[in-house]
This record gives sequence, C-alpha cells and structure tokens, in this order.
Amino acid sequence: MVWSRRDFLKIAVASTGVGIIGGTQVDKLLGLGRKPEDKPVYVPTVCEMCFWRCGVIAKVVNGKVVKLDGHPEHPQSRGKLCARGHGGIGLLYDPDRLKHPLIRVGERGEGKFKKASWDEAFNYVAEKMLKIKETYGPEAMALFTHGTISTYFVHLLWAYGSPNLGMPSYALCRGARDIAFKLTFGSPVGNPERVDLKNSKVIVLIGFHIGENAHNSMCQEFTEALGNGATVIVVDPRFSTVASKAKYWLPIKPATDLALLLAWINVIINEGLYDKEYVAKYTVGFEKLAEAVKEYTPQWAEKETEIPAGLIIETARIMGKNKPSVVIHPGRHTAWYEDNTQRIRAIAILTALLGAYGRPGGIYLPPKNPLTGYDLSDFCGVPYPEHQKPEINKGPYPFTEEEGVIPEIIKATLTENPYPIKGWLITGTNLIKSTPNQRDTIEAIKKLDLVVTVDMMPFDHVLYADVVLPECTYLERYDDIFEVKERSIGLALRQPVVNPMYDTKPGWWIAKELGIRLGLKDYFPYQDFEDYLKAKCQVLGISFEELKQKGYIEIPDTANPYLDGTSEVKFKTPSGKIELYSKQLEEAGFPPIPQYTKHEEPPQGYFRLLYGRVPVHTFSRTTNNPSLWELMKENAAWVNAKVAKKLGLKNGDYVVLVNQDGVKSNRVKIKVTERIRPDCVYVPHGFGSFSPMLKRAYLNGADDQQLITRYAVDPVSGSVGMRVNFVKIEKA
Ligand code: SF4
Repeated sequence: MVWSRRDFLKIAVASTGVGIIGGTQVDKLLGLGRKPEDKPVYVPTVCEMCFWRCGVIAKVVNGKVVKLDGHPEHPQSRGKLCARGHGGIGLLYDPDRLKHPLIRVGERGEGKFKKASWDEAFNYVAEKMLKIKETYGPEAMALFTHGTISTYFVHLLWAYGSPNLGMPSYALCRGARDIAFKLTFGSPVGNPERVDLKNSKVIVLIGFHIGENAHNSMCQEFTEALGNGATVIVVDPRFSTVASKAKYWLPIKPATDLALLLAWINVIINEGLYDKEYVAKYTVGFEKLAEAVKEYTPQWAEKETEIPAGLIIETARIMGKNKPSVVIHPGRHTAWYEDNTQRIRAIAILTALLGAYGRPGGIYLPPKNPLTGYDLSDFCGVPYPEHQKPEINKGPYPFTEEEGVIPEIIKATLTENPYPIKGWLITGTNLIKSTPNQRDTIEAIKKLDLVVTVDMMPFDHVLYADVVLPECTYLERYDDIFEVKERSIGLALRQPVVNPMYDTKPGWWIAKELGIRLGLKDYFPYQDFEDYLKAKCQVLGISFEELKQKGYIEIPDTANPYLDGTSEVKFKTPSGKIELYSKQLEEAGFPPIPQYTKHEEPPQGYFRLLYGRVPVHTFSRTTNNPSLWELMKENAAWVNAKVAKKLGLKNGDYVVLVNQDGVKSNRVKIKVTERIRPDCVYVPHGFGSFSPMLKRAYLNGADDQQLITRYAVDPVSGSVGMRVNFVKIEKA
C-alpha cells in the first residue's frame, strides 16, 4: 500500500467526523471493504510512538484500526495526539515490518537471513546463552534496551544473572539531569518532567526545543502558558521553533550555557532577587554559593557566551520579578559535554533561589503514591541471583545508575577488560543510531558469540543480528500497567486493539519463552499476561475489567503539587534540605558548587555539530513509517546564510558533512538560514538509515550519529556528552 501525504490527511480529517471525504474512501485507503452496517469499536490503549505514553482511543472497523485519538481523561494526551501518535496506524500497517523470526545466513551486517520458527529461533539463542554462561559467567551477556519492552528483558537479564544493562535513555539522554536534581532536591524531576508550565509566568528554555520536541501534554501546557501571557526566554545557538514564540532569544555561543547560568545566579544573588524566606527555610549552602559565584559577573559571561551583559541582567531581573512562577526547564537530552551534571545543577540551584521548586508555576512536587507496586520480580517471588563480578555498565562514575553507560559495555566488549562480554541482547533500540562512535559498536559486534535483536522494524542494527525476534506493535499487545505520575497518580492499560499481524509476538511473551528455555521458568509464573495483570489489579485494589474498559483510572487524593509553607519538609538529600552546596559531590572529589569549564572550539573551517528533533519523527524509529515519512522524508542540515554564501552553496544544494575524524555523512540537503549562528551546523537526528530493509528511510538524509565519533563522559553521572564533534561542509 502506498500512502500519500494527501491520503494521510484525508484519513485524519474523514475520521474526525468533519470529513471532506466519506467513510468508504477511508476504507479504500486502508483496504477495508467496510459495509455500511459495520459498526466501529472504540478501544482505549496507550501510545508508544514515543516514550511519553499518551492515552489513546483506537477506532477499529472490521478488525482494522482506522483512527487513533487522544484519550480525553489521560493527563498526557488530554484528548489529543501529536502527529507521531496519529502515525501509529502507519507503524501497524508498514509493509516493511519484521514478520517472522529470522536467523542469519550471511555475514553480520549483510542483512541476509532465513525465515525460522519461534522454536528454532529460541533454541538457537538459548543454546548460545547457556554456553556463554557456562564458559564466561552470566555477566558476559549485556542488554541494550529502550521502551516498554525493557520491563521484560531487564527482568530476564537479572534473572539470568547479569548486571550489564545499557539504556540509551540514561547516559545518552536524561541521566545528567536526573542525577543533578537528585543531588540538589533528593528526587529526579520525573518523567514527564514535573514542570508547572501552564501556571508559569516565565519559561526559560536552554537548548530545549518545545514544538520540535513534540511531547503531547508538554506542548499543550506550553501553549496554555503562552495564552496566559507567559514570558518565554530561549537560549539557543539556533532560532528554533520555540524561539519564534519567545520574547527573548539569546543566541548563545555553543558550549557556554553554564557561564550564562552562573551569571544569572550572580545577578539574582547580588541584586537580592532571590526568595530569602524560601532559601532560609529549605536550602543549605547559600553563603558558600554567594561567595563562589562572585567571579561570574554578567560582564565576564558576555565574553564567554557572546550574550550582552545588559541582556543577561535584564533576563535575570525578569525571573526575579516573577518568582516563584518561573520554569527553567531542566531539559531532557542533556548529554552535551563533560560537565552535564554541573550544568543542570546550576539550573537546579537557580530554580531553588527563585523559590520555584514545589511552587505554582515552577516545578510541582511528586504526587502522593499510595500504590504498593507489584512488578514482575514481586510477582514471581524469586530473588535475582547475586552477581559474581563487578558491574561493567556503571564504569568508574560514582553517581551513575543501574541503567548504565552504554560506551562502557562497548569498550569492555572490545577489550575484554575487566572481563569478556560475549553476547548482546538488543531490544527496542536502534543501537547503531543511538550510540556514539558507530565504528566501535560495529567492531565490538564482530567480537561477539551472539547478537539477538527484538524489534518491530528492520532498523540498522538488525542487519548485524544472528537472530531477529519480531515483536508485535503496541496496538497488538498487552503491556504492564503504567503508573502515570503527573500532578496526581493514575493507572493506564495498554491492551490489544487488534490481533498481532504476521508471526509477531508481544515482548512479555518473547522474554518468558526465552526465559523458560534458559531454565528460568520460576521467574515467569504465568501462562498469559492477563493472569499477571489481573493479579496486579487485585493488589492495586482496582478492577481489571474497569481498567480495560476505561483505559485510564485516576487514583483519588494523590495530588500534592506544591510545598505547604507551614509544615516542615524533609527533602531526600543527606541534609534533608535543598543542597545548593553539595557535600555528596565534595566527598566524591567534585566541585560542590558548579564551576565553569571551557570546551574545545571547532578548528578552522569546521563547525560544531548540533542535532535535535523534528516534530513528526521519534529518533530513527519512525523515518520509515508510511504516514510520517510522507510528512518528512529526509532531514536538512541548517547552515548560516553567510557561511553558505562563502562556500558558494544555495538552499537545497546537496552536501556531505565530514567530521574531525574524516567520517563522511550521506549526502544531505542544506537549509540556508539566518536562524543559526555561523559557528555551528544543525542536523535533525535519526535520518539516513543504511538498512535496505527499510524501503522508505534507506539513505534518506544524513545520519548525525555517524558523525558523532567522539564523546566526552561526565565523570559525575556517566552522561555521554556528544556535542563535541565538528564538521566541515563539502559539495556532494
Ligand atoms: S507524545 Fe505523541 S508519540 Fe509520544 S506518546 Fe504522545 S501521542 Fe504518542
């Protein structure tokens, strides 16, 4: 089936009921053959076109999904979906989907496979995994995982006996942010972030791209804030979509954001703009902070950031005047440089000075959670085995988390130090497109005894697998109940809307069946996932049938958004207070208050490589989606107009980008624009797939990750800074 942009829009409009075309035309586009008497069925479920996990109502006719809409009760969708959410139908009916288990017949990387039965595939994997365990110990298996499937495969990895887990969402994305907030406030900022956007008077976005980063409820609340007259301050070398909504755009020199933050702290303290009562009541270390930031004057910061001192002062005053209703967004993809944790610590400290943590329009508090929790490990009641060897995935970084630092696992696979890693399980993540230094990843793969991938689509990394296990899409399966932690707590159920197509299976089933063949049956004591979900509902005190029918149930009396100024509050930090000065960092040998560090500048003729999102795609996962591909087929590299003129390039010309290590990108169009500083080039992430099994995405645009051969690891959290690469532009 070939869908055009026109068709996609027609489906969207027709099925909202205000259509310009009738139902029969929708049927034709989807190949339905619907009769007039056929009644649609509406099934609530949960989107997984990105990790935001919005509630969805699926409209199903004759066993086919014809429309997806936002669940009106679910706090992350509020009756709406983003473009990618609507594109879920494209994923379900993508003819390039993985359809059967596959076993490799060619060399790794060639993408040559034979069709296999599930039994054959499981036996192959189990035999190799048991051999690895026997020869090298269970720690020699590593898991790379993202998305809901992680629940089942982390359980499997830990039951098997390995700690070596790598989730790109930690070290390659939000890790530094979570550690910085934990160090300062005792808890991470949450997922979704607990930013009270709709009540904000001032929203400060530092390299954070609302609108390009299209997380549903976040976009809705931001729009609400704009409607309420909020002042938006955007700090970005690029005039992003959200910069076009801002009162202030500060086109900062890349890699100097910490200088600006420290100067803002300097102004807020010097001019007495901080919340004195709040600071006295809830924080520790103010005096030391005030002393430490004396040197970071706006005049000093102007030299570093190229933002005029007057503008630094003016924007600081706006924050001070509107406190505490100020959101300085802590970001999500914070893996930029080697001082990521300290940069986000500065955001946290500024937030605390403004009294904005736990206050209306700032960052709201975690909801009260009366649920006891009941996950897979509780359900099976068998403890995980003790690890006999150290965790390679945590590296030497003292504050890192169990989600791990992926490059550490890759390094250990290459060097066999401190011990060999011999098998990789890759589930729900396009490892090659999410990890820096693709050459190392591919070299490491060559050394392995076993590479298994579980996914829905034949992404780039699938070409390197020995065994491919096809997972069904989120519209065809149950998943574990989601605890939705927004301002209150709710429970959401993902349930099958249609039966799995082809010979595909849910992630929970794949993990269980593999577990049984690995002798881990006791860890999977359920026949069907419904058994587990029903038991879990009983523990949670809700009706499974009601959850199925409603899709989302809010737990009453769990809202706890703001600090109660009268009562004593104990933060989960060692001091029980918000730690402006962090003893934990000091004791681990790091600056207890953020200090500015300079980063390497691009060499002559090179530009700093920046990357980001487009609103119609999620990483590389949707670039082959028939409906979303129609909306954006390839990316374009943003190049400043003066630079383009100097290089003799015009808008739409194709170029190749060549990085400091001589790695060349696919050919990519350039977007000649005034909307970017002349010292950087910006490339939307996720394009340029080199998997020929993805017929639409194949070699469309440039793969930014291919150019990220260098990275700088933050010694505090293990966050992997990737904005340390430089590119030059050559004619294609
Ligand atoms: S933000 Fe969009 S893609 Fe992500 S879960 Fe929500 S609707 Fe789906």
